[in-house]
Amino acid sequence: MSVTSRVAVLPPGTRTLEIIEVELPDPGPYQVIVRQYASGVCHSQLHQIHRDRTEGVILGHESTGVVEAIGSSVHHVAVGDDVLVTWVPREPQAAFRPTVRATLNLPDGTTAASQNVFTWATHTIADEQYIVKAPEDTPRDLGSIIGCAVMTGAGAVMHTAEVKAGQSVAVWGVGGVGLSAIAAARNAGASPIIAVDIDDAKLEMARGFGATLLVNAATSDAVKEVRRLTPGDRPADVGGVDWAFDCIGKSISTKQAISSAKSGHVAESPGGAAVIVGIPTEPVEISSVEIVIGEKRLIGSLAGSCSPDTDFPVLVGWHLDGTLDLDQLITARYALDDINQACEDLESGRIAGRAILDFTL
Ligand SMILES: [Zn+2]
Repeated sequence: MSVTSRVAVLPPGTRTLEIIEVELPDPGPYQVIVRQYASGVCHSQLHQIHRDRTEGVILGHESTGVVEAIGSSVHHVAVGDDVLVTWVPREPQAAFRPTVRATLNLPDGTTAASQNVFTWATHTIADEQYIVKAPEDTPRDLGSIIGCAVMTGAGAVMHTAEVKAGQSVAVWGVGGVGLSAIAAARNAGASPIIAVDIDDAKLEMARGFGATLLVNAATSDAVKEVRRLTPGDRPADVGGVDWAFDCIGKSISTKQAISSAKSGHVAESPGGAAVIVGIPTEPVEISSVEIVIGEKRLIGSLAGSCSPDTDFPVLVGWHLDGTLDLDQLITARYALDDINQACEDLESGRIAGRAILDFTL
């Protein structure tokens, strides 16, 4: 069975994606071909676009779709099943083999490769480790952002930090990842939940996901504000939160998150923690003295420490019961042909929440 896909390809030496018709190879024993409904457009893909490359690249790493073909050793999904595509393997320990990175032969004789999966295409081929059976009632368009944005933000709160009821939380950057973190903090019973951003409209949007206090880091000193909103209970305390999530990954946001985590009391209780969630794109100079004296912790969180098979049903459930409304989270839809516009809008900060490619447009 031959499947032709329209694929967004980034040739070497350019930052402009081209839509190219490619015949997908037959699936190998552990591969799955998916006709896609929708795909997320993620910040980390912009980082890939700006990187120097010697070969063509295929991008996108979260989507929804329906299985069109499977390899002989694929058993957890069948042709006709709705699925979610993600970049995190489902059960890497059980696979006993390296996952297959998707690579395509292009009509001009060159190749284009993905880091693991590609979803900016009408059809994709992926290792079965990245194909998750869609939980019941997964919305075919909205579900496309669960495989990266939602799991990254929500998982950082649920799994990496294991935030408890009554703990204080601040979140830097209220895009798709940050809003998912805020919703997860509300679900955990955190209080207060402080949203930090430089855009008032985006901050206002964060209220709908559970933010109880808003700090504009462009018009105020974010660290001072967060500390003022979360005072300690002793006269010498400077204040600060139990958990400061940096969903941006810039030097300034990471520094602010560390300084906004509360200090501990020696021999009594440890300080708070800064959790870096956004993929860092620049080096950051941190005050190790501040970390030691305050007995603070600095933690990294990748993909929210999530396990797709067990976490995706939980996250779809949050959408269905209204505690994380994906309808509110997705604020822009583009056709595949408009992928360059989507990337430009994301880069220039014009996307509140998350943008998706809708392959039905
Ligand atoms: Zn992503």
